[in-house]
Amino acid sequence: MSYSDALSKTLEDLGAAEGSVLSVSKDGRTYRGTLMPHHEFSSPDVIILKMKSGYNAGIRITGSAVITVEGKPAARERAETAVEYRKGLPKLVLIGTGGTIASYVDYRTGAVHPALSTSDMVNAVPEIRDIANIDAKVLFSIFSENMNVENWQKLAEAVAEEINAGADGIIIPHGTDTMGYTAAALSFMLGDVPKPVILVGAQRSSDRPSSDASSNLMACARFCTSGKRSGVFVVMHDTLGDDSFAVHAGTRVRKMHTSRRDAFRSINSLPAARMDASGNIDFILPGKPVSGGKAVARTGMERSCVLLQYYPGMDPSVFESIFMNSKGIVIAGSGLGHVNENMIPLIKRASDRGAVVIMTSQCLSGRTNLNVYNTGRDILAAGAVTVWDMLPETAYVKLMWALANSSSPEEAKKIMKTPLAGEMSDRRTEND
Ligand code: GLU
Repeated sequence: MSYSDALSKTLEDLGAAEGSVLSVSKDGRTYRGTLMPHHEFSSPDVIILKMKSGYNAGIRITGSAVITVEGKPAARERAETAVEYRKGLPKLVLIGTGGTIASYVDYRTGAVHPALSTSDMVNAVPEIRDIANIDAKVLFSIFSENMNVENWQKLAEAVAEEINAGADGIIIPHGTDTMGYTAAALSFMLGDVPKPVILVGAQRSSDRPSSDASSNLMACARFCTSGKRSGVFVVMHDTLGDDSFAVHAGTRVRKMHTSRRDAFRSINSLPAARMDASGNIDFILPGKPVSGGKAVARTGMERSCVLLQYYPGMDPSVFESIFMNSKGIVIAGSGLGHVNENMIPLIKRASDRGAVVIMTSQCLSGRTNLNVYNTGRDILAAGAVTVWDMLPETAYVKLMWALANSSSPEEAKKIMKTPLAGEMSDRRTEND
């Protein structure tokens, strides 16, 4: 929601912008402060002023209110403090993509900055300098709901480039909403990457006292420098406190809560490792050690793929065009991987014309099995395949990659059924 037309005009006529210092007199009281960005949940006739005390005041601008502009928005200083290179320390490269971890409210200007610079990040976590030399660059400044396949491809290329130029580890600050998708995409695109590539986010922005941005970032740097593990990971809080961090495999991780700091969980797998705030690492799963090899980015992705959630009453006529036009279809089915009997002929027609149809489960936890019920057997006979305990979104990302890196649907199916980056358990108990 934005300001009402009348209030927008008043502010415009006064020359007031976000970051202007305003004084508002209303009902015998005067409020003075910096004009903050209009919040989407605020009423259209309310302005928010950041007062000297640090508190925000919401003031409804009615006919009697008198607004005076007392100061212009301060230009944000972006002085880059030179960071001294320290011999003997590993080199980590931060590749910024945006999200909460890279945003903060600048209280002098009132603006929300989705910005990241070397000094911003390193100054926020000065201890990081004790363990590594840090280079930082901004690749994107976007919220992760706006990430797309092209962003994943550019990111994989940037990661490979930095590793091949000598980075000992890569840290990718990222919005948390779709961090799991990006982690899965990098896991397949970067294959046997020889160094740690770690995505990290924050549930609370760095201007808030409860922010998890610095502690997550520090945990990443510690895992990069002392973990000696290669691969794509997500590092986030493991608990609500600031004393435990989980290192998740990039193909197994999911945001399971909208706001908690410990929102990220490994599904159908334990985390690869846990760490405490001092950097002590408890390795839980075996993994590949770092090596001096080259990073190769295989970024091909077939765009004509969809991810669908089954629901009771799903009507095949609604999905006709999707099934007839997509090269890859991942369905998060019910239970062991089911859809209703009306959808099965559509699956058959799609498979018959060469589409790859993958059944996963919206239960998330546990393995799909199409051999238990008649429904499952009919879905198998229609040509769909299962990928055991792979997350639906990981299957979606992998299917795009498998189709682009194969020359036939059969070959793509084979890739889907071969564990490449820890994305599924290879205990094959089903005969499918
Ligand atoms: N929705 C935004 C994103 O995923 C902000 C949330 C966050 O970073 O945690 O980028």
